[in-house]
Amino acid sequence: MTRAILTLNSGSSSLKLGLFSETLETLAMAHVDRIGRREAAMQIKDAAGKPLPMPEHAPNAFKTNGAALRTALEVFQADFPGLEVVAVGHRVVHGGVNHAAPLRLTEEIMKDLARLAPFAPLHQPHNLAGVRASVDTFPGVPNIACFDTAFHRGHPFVNDTYALPHRYYEKGIRRYGFHGLSYDYISGELARTEPELAAGRVVVAHLGSGASMCAIRGGRSIESTMGFSAVDGLPMGTRTGQIDPGILMYLMDEEGMDSHQISDLLYKESGLLGMSGVSNDMRTLEASEEPHAAEAVDYFTYRIRRELAGLAAAMGGIDGLVFCGGIGENSPHIRARVCEDLGWLGIGVDPIRNLAHEREIGTGKVRVLVIPTNEEIVIARAAQAVLATIED
Ligand code: ADP
Repeated sequence: MTRAILTLNSGSSSLKLGLFSETLETLAMAHVDRIGRREAAMQIKDAAGKPLPMPEHAPNAFKTNGAALRTALEVFQADFPGLEVVAVGHRVVHGGVNHAAPLRLTEEIMKDLARLAPFAPLHQPHNLAGVRASVDTFPGVPNIACFDTAFHRGHPFVNDTYALPHRYYEKGIRRYGFHGLSYDYISGELARTEPELAAGRVVVAHLGSGASMCAIRGGRSIESTMGFSAVDGLPMGTRTGQIDPGILMYLMDEEGMDSHQISDLLYKESGLLGMSGVSNDMRTLEASEEPHAAEAVDYFTYRIRRELAGLAAAMGGIDGLVFCGGIGENSPHIRARVCEDLGWLGIGVDPIRNLAHEREIGTGKVRVLVIPTNEEIVIARAAQAVLATIED
Protein backbone atom coordinates (compact mmCIF):
# COMPACT_ATOMS: atom_id res chain seq x y z
CA MET A 1 0.00 0.00 0.00
CA THR A 2 1.37 3.44 -0.96
CA ARG A 3 -0.24 6.47 0.65
CA ALA A 4 0.43 9.41 -1.63
CA ILE A 5 -0.14 13.12 -2.16
CA LEU A 6 -1.13 14.10 -5.68
CA THR A 7 -0.55 17.56 -7.15
CA LEU A 8 -2.56 18.91 -10.07
CA ASN A 9 -1.80 21.85 -12.32
CA SER A 10 -4.79 22.01 -14.60
CA GLY A 11 -4.63 24.38 -17.60
CA SER A 12 -6.76 25.08 -20.66
CA SER A 13 -5.31 22.20 -22.65
CA SER A 14 -2.69 20.68 -20.39
CA LEU A 15 -2.51 18.85 -17.10
CA LYS A 16 0.59 18.39 -14.97
CA LEU A 17 0.48 15.83 -12.17
CA GLY A 18 2.96 15.07 -9.44
CA LEU A 19 2.81 12.00 -7.22
CA PHE A 20 4.59 12.24 -3.87
CA SER A 21 4.95 9.95 -0.88
CA GLU A 22 3.57 11.20 2.45
CA THR A 23 7.13 12.18 3.34
CA LEU A 24 7.33 14.17 0.09
CA GLU A 25 9.62 11.98 -1.95
CA THR A 26 8.82 12.30 -5.63
CA LEU A 27 7.28 9.08 -6.93
CA ALA A 28 6.25 10.08 -10.46
CA MET A 29 5.37 13.02 -12.71
CA ALA A 30 2.94 13.18 -15.61
CA HIS A 31 2.33 15.82 -18.25
CA VAL A 32 -0.62 15.68 -20.63
CA ASP A 33 -0.62 18.13 -23.53
CA ARG A 34 -3.21 19.26 -26.07
CA ILE A 35 -6.14 17.83 -24.10
CA GLY A 36 -9.32 17.60 -26.19
CA ARG A 37 -7.37 17.38 -29.46
CA ARG A 38 -6.53 14.34 -31.53
CA GLU A 39 -2.80 14.91 -31.01
CA ALA A 40 -3.16 14.79 -27.20
CA ALA A 41 -0.15 13.10 -25.63
CA MET A 42 0.94 12.06 -22.16
CA GLN A 43 4.45 11.74 -20.79
CA ILE A 44 4.85 9.94 -17.51
CA LYS A 45 8.14 9.54 -15.68
CA ASP A 46 9.26 7.94 -12.45
CA ALA A 47 11.32 9.72 -9.80
CA ALA A 48 14.55 9.09 -11.74
CA GLY A 49 13.04 10.59 -14.90
CA LYS A 50 12.60 7.18 -16.58
CA PRO A 51 9.45 6.99 -18.76
CA LEU A 52 6.80 4.66 -17.31
CA PRO A 53 5.00 2.18 -19.59
CA MET A 54 1.79 3.60 -21.01
CA PRO A 55 -1.47 1.66 -21.21
CA GLU A 56 -3.35 1.16 -24.48
CA HIS A 57 -5.36 4.36 -24.76
CA ALA A 58 -9.08 4.42 -25.29
CA PRO A 59 -9.95 7.06 -27.93
CA ASN A 60 -11.38 9.38 -25.28
CA ALA A 61 -8.55 8.91 -22.76
CA PHE A 62 -7.55 12.60 -23.05
CA LYS A 63 -10.83 14.17 -24.07
CA THR A 64 -11.16 16.25 -20.92
CA ASN A 65 -8.93 17.10 -17.96
CA GLY A 66 -10.96 14.60 -15.90
CA ALA A 67 -10.33 11.82 -18.43
CA ALA A 68 -6.63 12.71 -18.56
CA LEU A 69 -6.48 12.59 -14.75
CA ARG A 70 -8.03 9.11 -14.68
CA THR A 71 -5.70 7.86 -17.43
CA ALA A 72 -2.61 9.13 -15.58
CA LEU A 73 -3.93 7.61 -12.38
CA GLU A 74 -4.17 4.19 -14.10
CA VAL A 75 -0.47 4.39 -14.93
CA PHE A 76 0.41 5.44 -11.38
CA GLN A 77 -1.69 2.58 -9.98
CA ALA A 78 0.03 0.04 -12.22
CA ASP A 79 3.40 1.21 -10.94
CA PHE A 80 2.40 1.59 -7.28
CA PRO A 81 0.02 -1.27 -6.46
CA GLY A 82 -2.41 -0.37 -3.64
CA LEU A 83 -1.94 3.35 -4.28
CA GLU A 84 -4.09 5.46 -1.97
CA VAL A 85 -4.28 9.18 -2.67
CA VAL A 86 -4.73 10.87 0.73
CA ALA A 87 -4.73 14.52 -0.41
CA VAL A 88 -4.77 16.43 -3.68
CA GLY A 89 -2.99 19.79 -3.93
CA HIS A 90 -4.02 22.17 -6.70
CA ARG A 91 -2.35 25.10 -8.36
CA VAL A 92 -4.97 27.85 -8.43
CA VAL A 93 -3.78 30.95 -10.20
CA HIS A 94 -5.83 33.55 -8.34
CA GLY A 95 -6.51 33.81 -4.63
CA GLY A 96 -7.72 37.41 -4.84
CA VAL A 97 -7.13 39.87 -2.05
CA ASN A 98 -8.09 37.49 0.74
CA HIS A 99 -6.24 34.23 0.18
CA ALA A 100 -2.55 34.36 0.98
CA ALA A 101 -2.14 30.87 2.44
CA PRO A 102 -2.92 27.38 1.11
CA LEU A 103 -6.32 26.14 2.24
CA ARG A 104 -8.65 23.17 2.13
CA LEU A 105 -11.31 23.65 -0.52
CA THR A 106 -14.96 23.62 0.45
CA GLU A 107 -18.01 24.35 -1.72
CA GLU A 108 -18.13 27.82 -0.16
CA ILE A 109 -14.49 28.58 -1.03
CA MET A 110 -14.94 27.14 -4.54
CA LYS A 111 -17.75 29.65 -5.10
CA ASP A 112 -15.54 32.44 -3.82
CA LEU A 113 -12.71 31.39 -6.16
CA ALA A 114 -15.11 31.05 -9.11
CA ARG A 115 -16.05 34.70 -8.57
CA LEU A 116 -12.40 35.57 -9.28
CA ALA A 117 -12.58 33.98 -12.76
CA PRO A 118 -12.99 37.37 -14.52
CA PHE A 119 -9.62 38.35 -13.00
CA ALA A 120 -7.89 35.39 -14.70
CA PRO A 121 -10.31 34.11 -17.36
CA LEU A 122 -7.73 32.02 -19.17
CA HIS A 123 -6.54 30.17 -16.08
CA GLN A 124 -8.91 30.20 -13.10
CA PRO A 125 -11.84 28.29 -14.69
CA HIS A 126 -9.46 25.52 -15.82
CA ASN A 127 -7.81 25.32 -12.40
CA LEU A 128 -11.22 24.94 -10.77
CA ALA A 129 -12.28 22.34 -13.37
CA GLY A 130 -9.24 20.35 -12.19
CA VAL A 131 -10.56 20.54 -8.62
CA ARG A 132 -13.98 19.30 -9.78
CA ALA A 133 -12.35 16.40 -11.62
CA SER A 134 -10.42 15.54 -8.47
CA VAL A 135 -13.55 15.66 -6.28
CA ASP A 136 -15.24 13.21 -8.70
CA THR A 137 -12.22 10.92 -8.91
CA PHE A 138 -11.30 10.87 -5.20
CA PRO A 139 -14.51 11.22 -3.20
CA GLY A 140 -13.92 12.30 0.40
CA VAL A 141 -10.22 13.11 -0.15
CA PRO A 142 -9.19 16.66 0.91
CA ASN A 143 -8.43 19.10 -1.92
CA ILE A 144 -5.99 21.87 -1.06
CA ALA A 145 -5.52 25.04 -3.11
CA CYS A 146 -2.18 26.86 -3.48
CA PHE A 147 -2.36 30.28 -5.08
CA ASP A 148 0.05 31.81 -7.58
CA THR A 149 -0.80 35.24 -6.25
CA ALA A 150 -0.16 34.33 -2.59
CA PHE A 151 3.61 34.89 -2.48
CA HIS A 152 3.08 38.52 -3.55
CA ARG A 153 0.28 39.46 -1.17
CA GLY A 154 2.51 41.46 1.17
CA HIS A 155 3.53 44.05 -1.45
CA PRO A 156 3.72 47.64 -0.26
CA PHE A 157 0.78 49.77 -1.47
CA VAL A 158 2.69 51.59 -4.22
CA ASN A 159 3.77 48.24 -5.68
CA ASP A 160 0.21 46.91 -5.49
CA THR A 161 -1.74 49.73 -7.14
CA TYR A 162 -2.40 51.54 -10.42
CA ALA A 163 -2.98 55.28 -10.70
CA LEU A 164 -6.73 54.81 -11.15
CA PRO A 165 -9.35 56.41 -8.87
CA HIS A 166 -9.05 54.67 -5.51
CA ARG A 167 -12.43 52.92 -5.82
CA TYR A 168 -10.91 50.59 -8.44
CA TYR A 169 -8.28 49.45 -5.94
CA GLU A 170 -11.12 48.63 -3.55
CA LYS A 171 -12.80 46.65 -6.34
CA GLY A 172 -9.70 44.52 -6.63
CA ILE A 173 -7.94 46.17 -9.57
CA ARG A 174 -4.49 45.60 -8.12
CA ARG A 175 -1.06 44.39 -9.12
CA TYR A 176 -1.34 40.80 -7.91
CA GLY A 177 1.68 39.20 -9.56
CA PHE A 178 1.85 35.51 -10.53
CA HIS A 179 4.31 32.55 -10.69
CA GLY A 180 4.24 32.71 -6.87
CA LEU A 181 4.73 28.97 -6.41
CA SER A 182 7.95 29.10 -8.40
CA TYR A 183 9.22 32.12 -6.47
CA ASP A 184 8.26 30.48 -3.20
CA TYR A 185 10.34 27.43 -4.17
CA ILE A 186 13.39 29.48 -5.22
CA SER A 187 13.16 31.61 -2.10
CA GLY A 188 13.07 28.44 0.04
CA GLU A 189 16.05 26.95 -1.81
CA LEU A 190 18.04 30.15 -1.28
CA ALA A 191 17.19 30.17 2.42
CA ARG A 192 18.36 26.54 2.67
CA THR A 193 21.54 26.80 0.60
CA GLU A 194 22.54 30.49 0.58
CA PRO A 195 21.19 32.02 3.81
CA GLU A 196 23.26 35.18 3.49
CA LEU A 197 22.05 35.87 -0.04
CA ALA A 198 18.46 34.95 0.92
CA ALA A 199 18.57 37.65 3.59
CA GLY A 200 19.54 40.21 0.90
CA ARG A 201 18.06 41.54 -2.35
CA VAL A 202 17.44 39.01 -5.10
CA VAL A 203 15.78 39.22 -8.50
CA VAL A 204 14.38 35.91 -9.73
CA ALA A 205 13.74 35.59 -13.47
CA HIS A 206 11.21 32.84 -14.15
CA LEU A 207 11.60 32.45 -17.92
CA GLY A 208 9.33 29.78 -19.38
CA SER A 209 6.43 29.89 -21.86
CA GLY A 210 5.02 32.33 -19.34
CA ALA A 211 7.71 34.66 -18.02
CA SER A 212 7.97 37.10 -15.14
CA MET A 213 10.48 38.46 -12.67
CA CYS A 214 10.21 39.05 -8.96
CA ALA A 215 12.12 41.23 -6.53
CA ILE A 216 12.59 39.35 -3.26
CA ARG A 217 14.07 41.13 -0.25
CA GLY A 218 14.79 39.15 2.89
CA GLY A 219 12.74 36.24 1.52
CA ARG A 220 9.64 38.35 0.79
CA SER A 221 8.30 39.42 -2.59
CA ILE A 222 8.16 43.17 -2.84
CA GLU A 223 7.58 43.66 -6.57
CA SER A 224 6.70 41.61 -9.65
CA THR A 225 6.69 42.35 -13.38
CA MET A 226 3.24 40.79 -13.68
CA GLY A 227 0.39 42.89 -12.42
CA PHE A 228 -3.40 42.64 -12.55
CA SER A 229 -3.13 39.93 -15.18
CA ALA A 230 -0.55 37.42 -16.32
CA VAL A 231 -0.08 39.33 -19.58
CA ASP A 232 1.87 42.23 -18.04
CA GLY A 233 5.62 42.67 -17.82
CA LEU A 234 7.96 40.59 -19.97
CA PRO A 235 7.11 39.40 -23.48
CA MET A 236 6.38 35.65 -23.38
CA GLY A 237 5.91 32.71 -25.76
CA THR A 238 2.62 34.08 -27.10
CA ARG A 239 1.84 37.03 -24.76
CA THR A 240 2.76 40.66 -25.38
CA GLY A 241 3.96 41.59 -21.91
CA GLN A 242 3.68 45.29 -21.08
CA ILE A 243 1.81 47.25 -23.74
CA ASP A 244 0.48 50.79 -23.98
CA PRO A 245 -3.28 50.65 -23.20
CA GLY A 246 -3.73 53.30 -25.92
CA ILE A 247 -3.10 50.54 -28.46
CA LEU A 248 -6.10 48.60 -27.17
CA MET A 249 -8.40 51.61 -27.56
CA TYR A 250 -7.04 52.15 -31.06
CA LEU A 251 -7.74 48.51 -31.97
CA MET A 252 -11.30 48.79 -30.61
CA ASP A 253 -12.08 52.08 -32.32
CA GLU A 254 -10.22 51.72 -35.61
CA GLU A 255 -10.22 47.97 -36.22
CA GLY A 256 -13.53 47.16 -34.52
CA MET A 257 -11.98 44.47 -32.30
CA ASP A 258 -13.96 43.22 -29.32
CA SER A 259 -12.56 42.07 -25.98
CA HIS A 260 -12.31 38.42 -27.07
CA GLN A 261 -10.33 39.29 -30.18
CA ILE A 262 -8.07 41.57 -28.17
CA SER A 263 -7.61 38.87 -25.54
CA ASP A 264 -6.61 36.36 -28.25
CA LEU A 265 -4.19 38.91 -29.73
CA LEU A 266 -2.56 39.72 -26.38
CA TYR A 267 -2.41 36.20 -24.94
CA LYS A 268 -2.16 33.83 -27.88
CA GLU A 269 -0.86 35.56 -31.02
CA SER A 270 1.84 37.92 -29.73
CA GLY A 271 5.12 37.65 -27.82
CA LEU A 272 7.90 35.56 -29.34
CA LEU A 273 5.44 33.88 -31.72
CA GLY A 274 3.86 37.08 -33.01
CA MET A 275 7.10 39.04 -33.30
CA SER A 276 9.07 36.28 -35.02
CA GLY A 277 6.30 34.81 -37.15
CA VAL A 278 8.29 31.59 -36.63
CA SER A 279 7.59 29.99 -33.25
CA ASN A 280 6.88 30.54 -29.57
CA ASP A 281 9.62 28.02 -28.73
CA MET A 282 12.91 29.62 -27.74
CA ARG A 283 14.93 26.66 -29.04
CA THR A 284 13.46 27.15 -32.52
CA LEU A 285 14.13 30.89 -32.41
CA GLU A 286 17.72 30.41 -31.32
CA ALA A 287 18.28 28.09 -34.29
CA SER A 288 16.41 30.23 -36.81
CA GLU A 289 18.05 32.36 -39.52
CA GLU A 290 14.93 34.54 -39.87
CA PRO A 291 15.65 38.20 -39.04
CA HIS A 292 12.34 38.52 -37.18
CA ALA A 293 13.31 35.57 -34.97
CA ALA A 294 16.48 37.45 -33.96
CA GLU A 295 14.40 40.59 -33.31
CA ALA A 296 12.07 38.65 -31.00
CA VAL A 297 15.05 37.33 -29.00
CA ASP A 298 16.57 40.83 -28.90
CA TYR A 299 13.30 42.28 -27.56
CA PHE A 300 12.91 39.47 -24.99
CA THR A 301 16.39 39.95 -23.55
CA TYR A 302 16.18 43.76 -23.72
CA ARG A 303 12.95 43.82 -21.73
CA ILE A 304 14.40 41.46 -19.13
CA ARG A 305 17.36 43.85 -18.67
CA ARG A 306 15.04 46.85 -18.38
CA GLU A 307 12.85 45.14 -15.79
CA LEU A 308 15.91 43.89 -13.93
CA ALA A 309 17.16 47.44 -13.41
CA GLY A 310 13.66 48.52 -12.31
CA LEU A 311 13.40 45.69 -9.79
CA ALA A 312 16.87 46.49 -8.44
CA ALA A 313 15.68 50.09 -7.98
CA ALA A 314 12.59 48.82 -6.13
CA MET A 315 14.88 47.02 -3.65
CA GLY A 316 17.52 49.76 -3.35
CA GLY A 317 20.12 47.49 -4.98
CA ILE A 318 20.72 43.90 -5.94
CA ASP A 319 22.82 41.10 -4.41
CA GLY A 320 21.72 38.18 -6.54
CA LEU A 321 20.06 37.19 -9.82
CA VAL A 322 18.49 33.75 -10.18
CA PHE A 323 17.43 32.20 -13.50
CA CYS A 324 14.74 29.52 -13.59
CA GLY A 325 11.98 28.19 -15.89
CA GLY A 326 12.47 26.28 -19.17
CA ILE A 327 14.47 29.08 -20.82
CA GLY A 328 16.24 30.33 -17.70
CA GLU A 329 17.38 26.84 -16.73
CA ASN A 330 18.37 25.60 -20.18
CA SER A 331 19.54 28.44 -22.40
CA PRO A 332 23.11 29.70 -21.84
CA HIS A 333 22.60 31.98 -24.84
CA ILE A 334 19.66 33.84 -23.27
CA ARG A 335 21.38 34.03 -19.86
CA ALA A 336 24.46 35.55 -21.49
CA ARG A 337 22.39 37.97 -23.59
CA VAL A 338 20.42 39.12 -20.53
CA CYS A 339 23.60 39.81 -18.57
CA GLU A 340 25.61 41.50 -21.32
CA ASP A 341 26.34 45.17 -20.64
CA LEU A 342 25.11 44.88 -17.04
CA GLY A 343 28.59 45.42 -15.60
CA TRP A 344 27.43 48.83 -14.32
CA LEU A 345 25.00 46.94 -12.06
CA GLY A 346 27.70 44.51 -10.87
CA ILE A 347 26.40 41.67 -13.06
CA GLY A 348 28.63 39.55 -15.28
CA VAL A 349 28.55 35.96 -16.50
CA ASP A 350 31.45 33.53 -16.90
CA PRO A 351 31.01 32.04 -20.40
CA ILE A 352 32.53 28.67 -19.54
CA ARG A 353 30.52 28.05 -16.36
CA ASN A 354 27.41 29.34 -18.13
CA LEU A 355 27.86 26.93 -21.05
CA ALA A 356 28.59 24.08 -18.63
CA HIS A 357 25.22 24.74 -16.92
CA GLU A 358 26.86 25.29 -13.55
CA ARG A 359 24.74 26.53 -10.66
CA GLU A 360 26.84 29.63 -10.06
CA ILE A 361 27.74 31.56 -13.20
CA GLY A 362 28.38 35.16 -12.08
CA THR A 363 31.67 37.06 -12.23
CA GLY A 364 30.63 40.43 -10.76
CA LYS A 365 29.75 41.41 -7.21
CA VAL A 366 26.15 40.27 -7.82
CA ARG A 367 25.77 36.48 -7.48
CA VAL A 368 24.22 34.92 -10.60
CA LEU A 369 22.66 31.49 -10.08
CA VAL A 370 20.72 28.96 -12.11
CA ILE A 371 18.26 27.03 -9.91
CA PRO A 372 15.74 24.60 -11.42
CA THR A 373 12.32 25.48 -10.06
CA ASN A 374 9.81 22.97 -8.69
CA GLU A 375 6.27 24.26 -8.32
CA GLU A 376 4.91 20.75 -7.69
CA ILE A 377 6.87 20.23 -4.48
CA VAL A 378 5.59 23.56 -3.15
CA ILE A 379 2.02 22.36 -3.73
CA ALA A 380 2.79 18.94 -2.20
CA ARG A 381 4.35 20.53 0.91
CA ALA A 382 1.32 22.76 1.37
CA ALA A 383 -1.04 19.80 0.93
CA GLN A 384 0.96 17.81 3.50
CA ALA A 385 0.83 20.71 5.99
CA VAL A 386 -2.93 21.26 5.57
CA LEU A 387 -3.56 17.50 5.75
CA ALA A 388 -1.71 17.35 9.08
CA THR A 389 -4.07 19.97 10.53
CA ILE A 390 -7.08 17.92 9.34
CA GLU A 391 -5.78 14.62 10.71
CA ASP A 392 -4.78 16.06 14.12
P1 ADP B 1 5.84 26.40 -18.99
O1 ADP B 1 5.61 27.86 -18.68
O2 ADP B 1 4.90 25.87 -20.03
O3 ADP B 1 6.03 25.52 -17.78
P2 ADP B 1 8.64 25.91 -19.43
O4 ADP B 1 9.13 26.45 -18.14
O5 ADP B 1 8.68 24.44 -19.65
O6 ADP B 1 7.21 26.47 -19.78
O7 ADP B 1 9.49 26.64 -20.59
C1 ADP B 1 9.22 26.43 -21.93
C2 ADP B 1 10.22 27.24 -22.73
O8 ADP B 1 11.56 26.81 -22.42
C3 ADP B 1 10.06 27.10 -24.25
O9 ADP B 1 10.15 28.37 -24.87
C4 ADP B 1 11.27 26.27 -24.63
O10 ADP B 1 11.72 26.57 -25.91
C5 ADP B 1 12.29 26.74 -23.62
N1 ADP B 1 13.43 25.84 -23.54
C6 ADP B 1 13.46 24.58 -23.04
N2 ADP B 1 14.71 24.05 -23.22
C7 ADP B 1 15.46 25.00 -23.84
C8 ADP B 1 16.81 25.08 -24.29
N3 ADP B 1 17.66 24.06 -24.14
N4 ADP B 1 17.22 26.23 -24.88
C9 ADP B 1 16.38 27.27 -25.05
N5 ADP B 1 15.10 27.27 -24.64
C10 ADP B 1 14.64 26.16 -24.03
